[in-house]
Amino acid sequence: MATDANNKIYPLAFAVVESESTETWGWFLACIRRYVTDQRHLCVISDRHPGIQAIFRDTNQDYLQPPMTEHRYCLRHLCSNVNIRWNNETLKNLVWRAASATQERKFNATFDLIENVNRDAHQYLKDVLKEKWALTFDKDYRYGAMTTNISECFNGVLKGARSQPITVMVKYTWFKLNAYFDDRRNKSIEQLNSGKKWCKYALDIFMRNKVKAEHHRVTRLSAQQQSYQVDTPHNPGTARHRDHTHGVNLLQRTCTCQKWKLYKIPCSHVIAVCIRYRHDAEQYIDQCYSVDALFRSYAPVFPVLKDRLSWPDPEET
Ligand SMILES: [Zn+2]
Repeated sequence: MATDANNKIYPLAFAVVESESTETWGWFLACIRRYVTDQRHLCVISDRHPGIQAIFRDTNQDYLQPPMTEHRYCLRHLCSNVNIRWNNETLKNLVWRAASATQERKFNATFDLIENVNRDAHQYLKDVLKEKWALTFDKDYRYGAMTTNISECFNGVLKGARSQPITVMVKYTWFKLNAYFDDRRNKSIEQLNSGKKWCKYALDIFMRNKVKAEHHRVTRLSAQQQSYQVDTPHNPGTARHRDHTHGVNLLQRTCTCQKWKLYKIPCSHVIAVCIRYRHDAEQYIDQCYSVDALFRSYAPVFPVLKDRLSWPDPEET
């Protein structure tokens, strides 16, 4: 499963295998690379099943190594592993907070707290490569996606396929997917025709950030370098949001809060700069969130299934 421009499930590929193993995962991922996408920096978020771990450790599989593929771990599975070992709710919440932190400073502070709560758990996490579980070290491949929750939602759609003979299972999946694509294709065309540029997911985040931006104070440091300082006032209503200072550089497309880079949607600091100096902040939303990208994802039309009589003989293939 992948996600579409509106951050909803985008079904990519299905396979029927005897069991999850190094061999079957290797075969499936090789098929993805061969038939679905050969793009570089493909980000794979997994539940760390031993079969997946083994195949990603195999350095002979070039297509599963950086820069071709970036392997990341699902945070929900990681937290659940920590909880099974140490059964400590505070610890679990701290792991979640550290992994979701967008700034290294916040990650380090939370990681220190984890050490205070449980030294063994701290060591356990230290042994896991940080870029694989902590967002701030992700190198921008996750687009903010921390779990595999979205893929598990699709299991419900295919519930009727379980325990069926294999042909029925494949056909059921095929027609369910066709309906899924047809529905979303029509909806994306409606959105295109109504002149919408951005999908709801990104626009909602953008609008929330825009509201926050109204309270920021902007100082220009250099018009040539498009460098700005943004100060956020102390808000007594929210305990966790104190006054902060961030640096925005529109030329380099960076903000020290890191959210712009990680989510590819302008943060409140960037929007504040744009409002103050009359730039169009929406231009900085990544094209991957556009209605046009949504439409293009669902544009391919499923072909008519070949008549049963023209199916290849499995004994001969
Ligand atoms: Zn920012």
